Amino acid sequence: MLEEMEEGGMEFNLFTCTSLLVAYSKARDVEKAEKMWRSMLERGFRPDLKCYNALLSLYSSLGELNGAEKVVEEMERSGVERDRVSWLSLLGVCGRRGRLEEGVRMHEKVVSRGLWPGREKECTYLTTALIGMYASCGGLEEAEKVFKVHFEAKGEVEVSVYSSMIGAYAQYGLGEKALGVFGELCAKGLRPDVFTFSSLLTALSVALLPDKVLEIVGGMEKNFGMTPRVSHHSCVVDALANAGRLEEAEDYMRKTELIRSDVPTLVCLLMGCKNYGEYERAARILRGVREMVDLEVRKFLKEKKGGAWTWVGSNLHWFGEENPHPEMENVSNKALEIFNTLSNAGYTPQASPQSPKEEMLEKELCGHLEMQAIALALMKMEEMGEVKEQVVVFKNMSVCVDCHEASKWISKVFGKTIKLKESRRWHVFKDGVCSCSDCW
Ligand SMILES: [Zn+2]
Ligand SMILES: [Zn+2]
Repeated sequence: MLEEMEEGGMEFNLFTCTSLLVAYSKARDVEKAEKMWRSMLERGFRPDLKCYNALLSLYSSLGELNGAEKVVEEMERSGVERDRVSWLSLLGVCGRRGRLEEGVRMHEKVVSRGLWPGREKECTYLTTALIGMYASCGGLEEAEKVFKVHFEAKGEVEVSVYSSMIGAYAQYGLGEKALGVFGELCAKGLRPDVFTFSSLLTALSVALLPDKVLEIVGGMEKNFGMTPRVSHHSCVVDALANAGRLEEAEDYMRKTELIRSDVPTLVCLLMGCKNYGEYERAARILRGVREMVDLEVRKFLKEKKGGAWTWVGSNLHWFGEENPHPEMENVSNKALEIFNTLSNAGYTPQASPQSPKEEMLEKELCGHLEMQAIALALMKMEEMGEVKEQVVVFKNMSVCVDCHEASKWISKVFGKTIKLKESRRWHVFKDGVCSCSDCW
């Protein structure tokens, strides 16, 4: 790469290479950034912390843990110490991939190296990154601990830290807790910002508290001198649609100029129609929007491919509609075994009038992606002789009622905590009960 550029008359030293590497990383051009990095190593340049941080931030923004790990290895080989900026990227990528164990290790490292907690501004960034990482990996209690430790070390909590804690509660649908933190923030005389409101409104929407959402958005101007933005209005529609108040949701969208042709908001409304079986309304809404928006919406809805996954150590096990898992046969057998154990304990799948015969239901239930992921996690625990108290599974779409019910039973019969992240929230199943109290 450098040869070509030199032929073009450019001259290279560590400084120009670093600048280029940083520029490629910022432009998210992985190919060029990696090439530049390799060229630098080949030429005997010693990339400094700035280069490594640029690469880490690039991999973090892409959610590529493997790439980030390669960089870390190289840093260790060449004796370049990671600073707080490096850790921010690493925690970010860890959260995006849902790697709780790895996250715990990273947390321990920043503490043992004296990088966190502390009074510096960068420590606050690390606090929000740690809270975000834990919340995304299924570690809400750990996130709460981080919040507490930050407060104890600093004697105060900044708006950004409050917001990230509210965002964590949002992922678990804990609307009341989010409101509690918000109240604390206001009581301290701090001024919530745009992100605080987005997190809070999301929490209330997931918790099915649409009236609270309406109240808060309605009072933003008067109480906080802040004009609600697109994302805030969108939350209102989402909250109403989530709660099945579709007429109001549609009305709000029509009346609010800012979101009238906002595609993500429209998708929220349509999802609500789908969840509550109001297909005629959905069809009417779709007919009413401009053709271009319509196309965009269809693309948006179509692009979502279903998948569920879990981590075993550092191995990702993905269950999707497209590529069958290599150990599918064992997983299916394990799922059947689980199902039989549950049946013996008294579990029967909820048979709705449209449900097929029980046998069909059994087969179908075991074919659900989230069930396969749970079955694999339990299977691997046995294979590896590891007794873990919890199973963490992710799904990029909504969890179905049957799997939700079955997960409750698994938590009771197998004595495990099942943490299941669906597209927008966590369900934590313990002793036969779910944290969402069956409202989601
Ligand atoms: Zn299911
Ligand atoms: Zn639940």
